[in-house]
Amino acid sequence: MTRPDDTGYPFFVPRTGAWKGEALSQVRSRFRVGNIELVVLSDGSYYLDAGATFGVVPRVMWEPLAGPLDDHHCLTLGLNCLFLRSQGKDMLIETGVGDKEGGRVQSSPLAEGNLLTDLATHFGPPEEVDVVINTHLHSDHCGWNTRYVEGRLAPTFSRAEYVVQGEEWEVATHPNERTRATYLSENLLPLAESGQLRLLDGETKITDEVTVIPTPGHSEGHASVVITSGREMAIYIGDVVQQAVQLERTAWVSALDVLPLMSMETKKRLVERAIQERALLICVHLPFPGVGHMTRTADGKRKWEPV
Ligand SMILES: [Zn+2]
Repeated sequence: MTRPDDTGYPFFVPRTGAWKGEALSQVRSRFRVGNIELVVLSDGSYYLDAGATFGVVPRVMWEPLAGPLDDHHCLTLGLNCLFLRSQGKDMLIETGVGDKEGGRVQSSPLAEGNLLTDLATHFGPPEEVDVVINTHLHSDHCGWNTRYVEGRLAPTFSRAEYVVQGEEWEVATHPNERTRATYLSENLLPLAESGQLRLLDGETKITDEVTVIPTPGHSEGHASVVITSGREMAIYIGDVVQQAVQLERTAWVSALDVLPLMSMETKKRLVERAIQERALLICVHLPFPGVGHMTRTADGKRKWEPV
């Protein structure tokens, strides 16, 4: 298995600074939806070109609302993964950047904190995870799907079923010039080879409380995860947005989205549902833990309220 040539990817830039935010251990990471406890785990920080984040939105409009930029004009994004237990199944949503060679060029080093360390602190070793759900298969979302064990590439979560939309698997395993540097075979093929892969065809219940729903736009097969318990709801929205302001201004869509107009429609639908249901939203790329609600102001504007 080979790593594609990164030069094909217009937004691939090296990191230039360490995480300067609050120590993650000081930040609340546990939330509750009905009877289910949600634990947000971090795989560190991710550095993404600010122009790629905001697409066609003019810089004069987004700059006052974005976080500080580093020397390479990158924003610091979170890598918020989610752990929960539903009906006897220990589930992990999203697996960050991982530890394979080159995988952390664009993110913070392992020593600054990573998913497996966080998982061990809050839960246990990766072998004990029953289900891994990937919202999509870009390299910053499925990096820990696999790792090298004694020189051989293998699924990190050795007993788990790995769940992803079939449409996403199809585009990820047939990348084009633009997507080949983010759809890395090393994160994918070992899952098929080990028989641990489960491909979904549209909306699918994983348990009575956890449902994967298609939310296309960022990628063709992008999905979100709806968690319900009692009368409460949480939605892990993956890469539907990278910044909170993109939830408030639905036309603000990332340049990385392959179907930007569909992203806009997906986002409108999802935000409306989140407002109506008072759903807790978990956003992978917002600053840790990336959790909050969408509300409506008195004059009818959509507003992000972090928890
Ligand atoms: Zn991403």
